Amino acid sequence: MSSWFKRKEKGIVTPTEHKKETPDGLWYKCPECKTVATMVEHKRLLHTCANCCYHDRINAADYFEFLFDNHQYEELDADMRSADPLNFVDTKAYPQRVAATETATGLRDAVRTAHGQLNGLGLVVAAMDFKFIGGSMGSVVGEKIARAIDYARRNRLPFLMISRSGGARMMEAGFSLMQMAKTSAKLALLSEAGLPYISLLTDPTTGGVTASFAMLGDFNIAEPGALIGFAGPRVIKETIGKDLPKGFQSAEFVLEHGFLDFIVDRKELKQQLFELLTMLQPAPAKKPVAEAVAARR
Ligand SMILES: [Zn+2]
Repeated sequence: MSSWFKRKEKGIVTPTEHKKETPDGLWYKCPECKTVATMVEHKRLLHTCANCCYHDRINAADYFEFLFDNHQYEELDADMRSADPLNFVDTKAYPQRVAATETATGLRDAVRTAHGQLNGLGLVVAAMDFKFIGGSMGSVVGEKIARAIDYARRNRLPFLMISRSGGARMMEAGFSLMQMAKTSAKLALLSEAGLPYISLLTDPTTGGVTASFAMLGDFNIAEPGALIGFAGPRVIKETIGKDLPKGFQSAEFVLEHGFLDFIVDRKELKQQLFELLTMLQPAPAKKPVAEAVAARR
């Protein structure tokens, strides 16, 4: 063996500042099929895999960016923050957990709501952030969604909910559960007003969110491969004492069993929403014949 390949001198150490590392965030490796893409390409494909169509989890702000025309939108109730009604403490006191999550994520809570235009059509969108305590639904999430629905009613706009949630927020217990009733009641008022509601379920949508607003859309649609369910697979398996079928609780499984209207690739979401909203818009009132004739003269 040639001595060229042997390190003769001991203790050769490269100081950290001289090490050349690949900067983080340049490459994306698909967790499903391991295909590697540049981060720029991954972003261009709206965080989906070019090879297997795996849909990476994205944030509320990312949806707003590509759904609203010219990336322009007005955020509603941006500063609403959680209280601590139960003085809840687990490994941390709840206010401390919220403060730490705020610092880590730059978010105020697990949902953001906004008003903007989608291909020229006015639309109110509420989108959840999984990074904020598992996208859990507490009082702020419920209240912001309720207010966004009220805003849609006042302004005669359709409403889109993008769910991504582990369910109710443990730290607010009963207060979280009340949000299910509140949001459902607000959606009933939206429906009474003749305004469309589209619910998009993304990975994962579970618990109290599935059991309330996420399944109440005029159209319930989902992203490919999203986990959708009420209880988690482990709990169900233990309860029924049987193995679960393959693909159980995937969007595709849920669609096959009649709980979804269709699955939509994120890259086609904007166009599909546009077509749905165009279809759901009430036809403009026709002018009475006499009035139309008079107008022609
Ligand atoms: Zn892939």
